[in-house]
Amino acid sequence: MIFAICLCLINSGAGILRLNAGDKDSSSMVGKIILFPIGEIEGSVLEALEKDLPAKFHAEVKRQNPMPIPEDAFHPARKQYSSSLILKKLRGLVRSEKQEIALAIANVDLYAEGLNFVFGEAEFGGRCAVISLTRLRQGFYSLPEKKALFTERAIKEAVHELGHVFGIEHCPHPECVMHFSNSLMDTDKKSASFCSRCRGILGDSSHESRH
Ligand SMILES: [Zn+2]
Ligand SMILES: [Zn+2]
Repeated sequence: MIFAICLCLINSGAGILRLNAGDKDSSSMVGKIILFPIGEIEGSVLEALEKDLPAKFHAEVKRQNPMPIPEDAFHPARKQYSSSLILKKLRGLVRSEKQEIALAIANVDLYAEGLNFVFGEAEFGGRCAVISLTRLRQGFYSLPEKKALFTERAIKEAVHELGHVFGIEHCPHPECVMHFSNSLMDTDKKSASFCSRCRGILGDSSHESRH
C-alpha cells in the first residue's frame, strides 16, 4: 500500500516557451486554453471553467468535444488511469506555435507512479495539465452531493494546475489557489484566486510597481 497523498504532480515542461513576469506583453493575451473533456463531464463544470479561466489567465478558453477515455492509460490492478499517459496524449493535440495550452478534465480516478492517486498533474512551464473530478465529489466519500462545492473544487483544481503550466510554483499564502493542499479540506479552505505575488508571476502586475 502506498499512503502518500498528493494534490498535484508537477512535471517539468519540455523546454517550451512560456511567459514570465519580464515579458513586456504578458499582460495582454497568452493565447488559448483548450478544455478537453475526457468522458462525460457535467456541462455546468465546463461552463464554470469557461467563465472563470479567461480573466485569470488573460486567455481565450475554448472547449473541445468530449474525448473517449484512453483505455491504454488504464491500470487494471489499480482500477485507475495514468495521469502521465493522459498528459502525453494531450501533448500531441496542442499547437505550440499557436500558444495553445491544454487542460484535460477527466471523470476517472488518476494515479501517478509512487502515489496512490493524484487530483491532477501539470507540466511546469509547459503546455498541458489534467485534472480528475472523481475525488472532488462528496459522493466519493459517501457524503451527500453538493453541486456548488463540487464546481468550486473543480475550478480550484483547474486554476492550480494551469498555474503550474504558467510557471507558478506552490505558494506559501494559505488562501492562494497555488497553496499546496494536503487534503481536500485544505482545498476547501483556500480561495480560487491567485495572491498578488502569483498574479505578478502571471504578468498581471506588469503595470504596477514591484517590490
Ligand atoms: Zn500543485
Ligand atoms: Zn500565491
